[in-house]
Amino acid sequence: MRFHIMTLFPDMVTNGLSESITGRAIESGLIEVSATDIRDFADNKYRHVDDYTYGGGAGMLMQPGPVVDCYESICDGIKERGGKDKPRVLYMTPAGTPFTQSMAEEFAKEEDLVILCGHYEGIDERALELIVTDNVSIGDFVLTGGELPAMMIVDAVSRLIPGVLGCDESAVYESFYDGLLEYPQYTRPKEYRGMEVPEVLLSGHHANIEKWRHEQALLRTRERRPDLYEAYMKDHTKQ
Ligand code: SAM
Repeated sequence: MRFHIMTLFPDMVTNGLSESITGRAIESGLIEVSATDIRDFADNKYRHVDDYTYGGGAGMLMQPGPVVDCYESICDGIKERGGKDKPRVLYMTPAGTPFTQSMAEEFAKEEDLVILCGHYEGIDERALELIVTDNVSIGDFVLTGGELPAMMIVDAVSRLIPGVLGCDESAVYESFYDGLLEYPQYTRPKEYRGMEVPEVLLSGHHANIEKWRHEQALLRTRERRPDLYEAYMKDHTKQ
């Protein structure tokens, strides 16, 4: 899978993703991450890509020209490699749909995913209208730029690509996989500062362990995410 990131800070994205599991996935060729500098498409020698907003208001806005030119150059590259004419383009924005695991699963089906990072006050609406297929938020707060959100999307999607995690099972029994948060987990030592590992996990009785984990997942979800719990119960009680 190939991620194409449109950004004013390409090093931030490539450096951040070059570590740990995403770094190994890039090295082994399971994913490709390219970050294109939108400033390379500026129409002036100062490489300025922002300007004042029409109608007044604080802050600067990214101009449509460099964004759309950058997108078209990425599309040319995708087409040359046999990809879609119009790839999926995610715009990172606090005004988008909150990112979820099921969106990550959907994005993981794409061959090419273009991710657009805004900065300053954001991007001229006309550029967004022309190229964006999905507006995605990573939460109800405002960051200075879309680079961290883009890295989060690449991370969450990459770990669903077969081979990226050491063991494919790891992505299967995690929080959100079946609509519940993950149950508590323990490793050695058996006792730590007077706290014991729950007896059932040492029993070797797989059915009891599964039952305990499911109960714990339900309890944790009810306590921490009543919204998810309610949706899960609705789904699992209707006939
Ligand atoms: N004026 C914009 C608004 O009120 O919706 C916020 C612009 S923000 C300061 C600059 C950029 O950071 C955005 O264009 C977006 O790419 C990114 N960003 C900030 N918060 C985000 C969030 N919660 N999710 C995704 N992207 C975000």
